[in-house]
Amino acid sequence: MRQIYSMSVEAAQNPRLCRALLERLSRALDGRQLRFMEVCGTHTAAIFQCGLASLLPASVMHLSGPGCPVCVTHDAEIAVILELAGRENIITATFGDMLRVPGPDGKSLSHARAEGARVKIVYSPLDALTLAEKNPDAIVFFPGIGFETTAPTVAATVLTARQKKIDNFFLLSLHKLVPPVLRALLDDASDANIEAFLLPGHVSTVLGLAPYAFLAERYSIPCVVGGFEPADILLAICLMAEQLRDGSPAVVNAYPRAVNDAGNPRALALMEQVFMPTDTLWRGMGRIPQSGLALRPEYADMDATARFGVVFAESQPPRGCRCGDVLKGCISPPACPLFGQKCTPASPVGPCMVSTEGSCATWHKYAGHQ
Ligand code: SF4
Repeated sequence: MRQIYSMSVEAAQNPRLCRALLERLSRALDGRQLRFMEVCGTHTAAIFQCGLASLLPASVMHLSGPGCPVCVTHDAEIAVILELAGRENIITATFGDMLRVPGPDGKSLSHARAEGARVKIVYSPLDALTLAEKNPDAIVFFPGIGFETTAPTVAATVLTARQKKIDNFFLLSLHKLVPPVLRALLDDASDANIEAFLLPGHVSTVLGLAPYAFLAERYSIPCVVGGFEPADILLAICLMAEQLRDGSPAVVNAYPRAVNDAGNPRALALMEQVFMPTDTLWRGMGRIPQSGLALRPEYADMDATARFGVVFAESQPPRGCRCGDVLKGCISPPACPLFGQKCTPASPVGPCMVSTEGSCATWHKYAGHQ
C-alpha cells in the first residue's frame, strides 16, 4: 500500500521531529555513505539556512544540481540576450536575477544598461506584456529563463498577447526541462556518482511524479520529492537512505502538502498548447536532446529566434570558471579556484555566484570561503 507522507508546516519545523528523523537516518545508513543530489537551488539554500549542512552525518554528501535557472543558462544564450539587448529600439524585459549574470566577455545586462540599453526588470512575464502595450513603438523582448515552474506562466502570457493582438512582444524561449537533464547527468561519465535525487519541490508541483519514473525503473536511483522545511528535507533524506538500504528504488512524494502526484494538469496543458520539446544547451553539459521548450509554429510571430535571426554561436565560459562542474555535482563550490577569491557575490565571475539560487552564492553566504 502506498504511504502518504503528510506533514504540516509546523510539524516540518519541529526540532523534536528533526531529532527523531536524524536518528532514523542514522539507523537507515547503518555505517553506509549516501551521496545524493539536491536538484533545486532552493533546497541547497534551505539545507544551509536551517543548519542541516552541519547536522547531517559526515557520511551524507549533498551535491548541488542543475536547478538554478539562471545558472544553467548557457554562455551562448547569455551572449544572445546581451546582443539583442544592445540593439536599437529594443526593450529587454527580464527577471532581476538575470541582470548581473556575466556573459562570455564578463559583461552583463547591468553593464549593457549602463551603456544605454533599455533593460527593465519585470516580476512576471505579464509585466513584459504590459511594457509592450505601453511602448507600441518599441520592440519588447523577454528572455524566457526557467523550468517547468515558469513555463506555464510564460505560455499564458503568449496566449494573452495573441488574444490582445499585441504585435511588439517577442519571446526568446530558453526554458529547460528537469527530467531530461537528470537522465543526462546519470548518462554522463563524470565524477558525480549520484546515488539518489532529492527532487525539486516547485517543479514537481507542475510535473507530478510520472515524468521521473524512468530514474527508478531504468537507473535504479531513489527519487524523493521534498519540501523546504528542515523535517521535510530530513524525511526525504531518510527515504532515500532507506530505499538504498532495501534495494527498492522508487519515486516518492514526501511533499504532499504542495505536490499532487499527478502534478498540475492545467499548467501542463498550457505548456503543451504553446510549447514543444526541443534540444537545448545547458551550461557545463552542452546540448541535451529534448530538454528545452520552443514555441510551437502557431506562435512563430512572437518567436524572437526567428524575428531576430538568433544564432547560438560557440562560446566558452569565463576563464577558470567551474560552474559547469558545480552544476553536475562533480565539485562543491569551494573546489573552484576562483571561489571567494576572484569570484565573490560582489564581483561574480560565473552565474552560480549571482543568483540567490546559485550554489556558489549559497556556499559563500553560509559556509564561508576558507
Ligand atoms: S566560484 Fe565563481 S567561477 Fe567558480 S564555479 Fe562558482 S560561480 Fe563559477
